[in-house]
Amino acid sequence: MLVVMRHDARPSDIRAVVEAIEHMGYQAHPMPGRQRTTVGVVGNEGRVDGSRLIALEGVQEVIHVTHPYKRVSREWQAESTVIRLPGGLTIGGEDVQIMAGPCSVEGEAQLLQAAHAVKEAGATILRAGAFKPRSSPYSFQGLGREGLDLLALARRETGLLIVTEAVDPEGVDWVAEVADIIQIGARNMQNYSLLRRAGRAGKPVLLKRGIAATIQELLLAAEYLLAEGNPDVILCERGIRSYDTQTRNLFDLSAIPIVHSLSHLPVIADPSHGTGRRDMVPSMARAAVAAGADGLLLEVHPNPDQALSDGAQSLRPEQFERLMPELRLIAEAIGRRIAEPVGART
Ligand code: PEP
Ligand code: MN
Repeated sequence: MLVVMRHDARPSDIRAVVEAIEHMGYQAHPMPGRQRTTVGVVGNEGRVDGSRLIALEGVQEVIHVTHPYKRVSREWQAESTVIRLPGGLTIGGEDVQIMAGPCSVEGEAQLLQAAHAVKEAGATILRAGAFKPRSSPYSFQGLGREGLDLLALARRETGLLIVTEAVDPEGVDWVAEVADIIQIGARNMQNYSLLRRAGRAGKPVLLKRGIAATIQELLLAAEYLLAEGNPDVILCERGIRSYDTQTRNLFDLSAIPIVHSLSHLPVIADPSHGTGRRDMVPSMARAAVAAGADGLLLEVHPNPDQALSDGAQSLRPEQFERLMPELRLIAEAIGRRIAEPVGART
């Protein structure tokens, strides 16, 4: 529930509302806004009886949040969240951020080649995994901390920001030292100890939709991050499991406008994992921008045929280069802009 205060409510009125909420056995979260303060109520299982609160001095209205998730909902916050990244980049505003790179960090030459290629084509964020959650224990598991050092090197060399995955709570701190955005992968969307740790890491989190997760489950997973005090959460549609074997996953384009209507958080799309097929990635990337995605996550490998993971869905650098101007046209057509790289960052 949300208690909306009048614009002329006094600090003592707000305190009285907080005390009344706490007296009812819930937690109160005052959120000062430009016009007025809103006090959020959490800790309730069912509907809260607001009659006592509406009668208090300075209260304008009481809004019942109808979803099980609270802080991530549009009811809780009507304005879209705009996440500010180093170098003046934003996610969730007008700009559409392109995050691109190989599935895994495989070595210095491969990573730097990929980083330069995606930067030259206009990506702003380098994405590559140092810790890889693989379905098989015998598959390449990533270079681990050595991979993080290589990502730090690529950041210094190119000025690209870094998004990379943390697979366990202990690894979150290592990843947070290097990454500008911490990725939580599909297999870990409901790993609540990992979510709690990432929620306290002080860096934005990119949360991927689970392999068979509903949109409500995705939003509830994001709620864990916000409940830990991290407001900077980016949601990612990466396809869900289906019965059809033509594609690796069923890329759920409709999740983009649905998430935007239910939540104020930015949502990006990953057509690489969404389709699993290089030949389908460009069309689905264009469609995702047209559907209003706040960014794209695209796997690009300098030599996909030799990739240690996800080669079949990785774009060749020249395909990525061809795609970028198409994305710019589509973004412009809907009043958005593909973000420009802005040189070396700190
Ligand atoms: C990845 O981003 O490389 C990855 C493992 O994706 P997902 O968690 O969506 O399967
Ligand atoms: Mn991958």
